[in-house]
Amino acid sequence: MYQIIDRLEKDRYAEKDELIALLNCDSEEVRSYLFERARRVREGVYGNEVYIRGLIEFTNICKNDCYYCGIRKSNPNANRYRLSKEEILSCCKNGYELGFRTFVLQGGEDGYFSDAVLEDIIKEIKRNYPDCAITLSVGERSRDSYQRLFDAGADRYLLRHETANCGHYHMLHPESMSYENRMQCLKDLKEIGYQVGAGFMVGSPYQKTEYLVEDLLFLKELNPHMIGIGPFIPHQQTEFANQKQGSLTLTLTLLAILRLMFPNVLLPATTALGTIAPNGRELGLLAGANVVMPNLSPVSVRKKYELYDNKICTGDEAAECIQCLTQRVGSVGYHIVTDRGDYKAE
Ligand code: SAH
Repeated sequence: MYQIIDRLEKDRYAEKDELIALLNCDSEEVRSYLFERARRVREGVYGNEVYIRGLIEFTNICKNDCYYCGIRKSNPNANRYRLSKEEILSCCKNGYELGFRTFVLQGGEDGYFSDAVLEDIIKEIKRNYPDCAITLSVGERSRDSYQRLFDAGADRYLLRHETANCGHYHMLHPESMSYENRMQCLKDLKEIGYQVGAGFMVGSPYQKTEYLVEDLLFLKELNPHMIGIGPFIPHQQTEFANQKQGSLTLTLTLLAILRLMFPNVLLPATTALGTIAPNGRELGLLAGANVVMPNLSPVSVRKKYELYDNKICTGDEAAECIQCLTQRVGSVGYHIVTDRGDYKAE
């Protein structure tokens, strides 16, 4: 096992059966060795710095019906909202004062936010905060649309591939959604010039260890700038309500493996990780993560952007979130920086 880890660090790659062995490994000692290596690699590239992203969940209206997601179209109990341009700008103002230099606009696939509407919002944010990066996370759009939003000033795009196994993809999504289209979107985004983030849920229903290896190999091929992973957490108003949640240990193991395979990648310790364990995000940082994405959304809508049950930080003002995170990040020997936090190329 130790040799597999050493080779993974050196070659940034391992054979399928080696990765499976590592993912299934139940030795605490091996895992702490893996985490230690991942930290060393992370510190070699990003030092002790942790990048923050201000997450603005600007709409929970969605035309899609992903089986796992609490804001899916066919959840009649979701209390729908969309933020106005003014509200979004006010989140940015608040965030800028707190030291954020990246704003992530995330939402459901809400037809109201046409290219023209989004372009206007992006341009206005850029005009007010030219030193900030804008990340979009608004799902699948046409290549032309991605291009227009990029030209308007968007810098980065997060679109998790969710699973690299086509059969598995269709167990998580309705027939109206296609694996090929999601992959095409990621390709388009990369070609246009965005810093691109892909990723997947750990422990999603029907997932097998082999699929996780497919995720790793797919990522190797795509070579994204960011990789977002977090445990699957059931949402009571979805058909996956009674499915098991993803495991903390497996998520941490994957974070560490990703850090060894992609030394420079931007790797968040996600809110979902912080939801399944009180110190989940700290453990994520100790396994190689280097980004945290606190919520900048107005407190009045926080609870409504409920992708999964028991999501944390839905009651706190942004200032309280950042205070709490500063302390948490400090507790594991790292520190938050006021920086756009761009990908560091080799
Ligand atoms: N509509 C956008 C944003 C989706 S929400 C898009 O399609 O990209 C961001 C991510 O939350 C999703 O990509 C998914 O991986 C994750 N997510 C959704 N439901 C979840 C759940 N029940 N548990 C854990 N993560 C979930």
